[in-house]
This record gives sequence, structure tokens and C-alpha cells, in this order.
Amino acid sequence: AVQWLAGSQPLLVNRQHPVASDFAPADLVNLSEYCDSSLVKIKYDGTQGVREAADALLRMLEAAKTDGITNWQVSAAYRSYADQQRIFDNKVKSFQNNNPDWSLSRCRSAASVTVADPGASEHHTGLAFDITVAGTIFKGTEQQIWLHKHCWDYGFIIRYQEDKEDITGFLAECWHIRYVGLPHSTEMRDRNLCLEEYLGEA
Ligand code: ZN
Repeated sequence: AVQWLAGSQPLLVNRQHPVASDFAPADLVNLSEYCDSSLVKIKYDGTQGVREAADALLRMLEAAKTDGITNWQVSAAYRSYADQQRIFDNKVKSFQNNNPDWSLSRCRSAASVTVADPGASEHHTGLAFDITVAGTIFKGTEQQIWLHKHCWDYGFIIRYQEDKEDITGFLAECWHIRYVGLPHSTEMRDRNLCLEEYLGEA
């Protein structure tokens, strides 16, 4: 197990460590109001995130702007348990509609490959952001490449990477960043550890 001495441990949320249905992070801000719209577009009005993570996001995107990389969008941040329940149920329903011969449990397992079960989504923490570029596939954009190179220096990690799929239990998501704070993020980058490995929960 990895021992971490300094500071507080980052919160681990996954299928083995779900949050309670009444979990709610403190200090949420309305990103649409909080963020400079010239720096980042908030796709859905009223999307919330934890202030400390939002501050780190803005610092990071200021730096990106200095590097000439703009046109960022946040397409998801905080989600309540009920929000995630709705998203999961819709995914199960779409598997049922497309595969009439599948059992409910098969549809549920298929859904849980790409959508977290209620309680198991990192978006419950208010510390995760889905970063996109409006109107295009994110993977391969200059924004995605910049993000993957620099996010660590601002306290963020690329939470779901291809070489860690067996450990995280999620397919890689190049758009999903998670705020863990410094120095955790740079430590995880330098030692090539996903959050489960870093916390000794792999
Ligand atoms: Zn996400």
C-alpha cells in the first residue's frame, strides 16, 4: 500500500467505495456564474462544482490561454445521487430498447461499463469535470493534448486512463479530470499511479 504522509488523502469514489445517497460536497459554486465565460463555456447552465476545484480549473485555463489554447467547455461537473440514478436508468433503458432479448441484469452490467452506478460516480464529489470542445470530438484536439500534459501541475489527474482500465473498472475517458490537489497530482503523474493505486486500494 502507498503511504501518503503530507496533507489530506484524496477522496476515492468508485464501485467499491460509493458515496451515500445523501452525500453532498460542501462549498459548491454555480460554475455558470463563477467562471469567466471568455475562459470556459459551461455547457449546461447551473452546473455546480466545488470552489477549490473551480479555482484550480480557472488557474489552469488561464495558463492554457497564455499558451494560446482556448475554446474550452465544461460539459459536466457535480452530480447528485439522484442525477446519476437518472443517467444510469436511461442507459439501461437504451440497452433494453436496442436488445429486446437481453435480461435486465445483462442490460445493467452493460450500462455499468460506461456509466457509473449511482453512488459510484466521481461527479458526486464536485471535484470532477468533463472537459470538452464544443462541436467536436475531444480526443486528439489541441485542447486534449494540452490538458493531458499540464493538468497535473494544477492539482488535476486524468482519472481514467487506458493502461489502468483493469484497476479503475472504467473505460478510458480522455475528457474526465479529477481534482486531487497538489502534490498528489504530480506524484501520481511521476509514479504513473491511478487513484486506486495511489491510495493502496488497487
Ligand atoms: Zn466525467
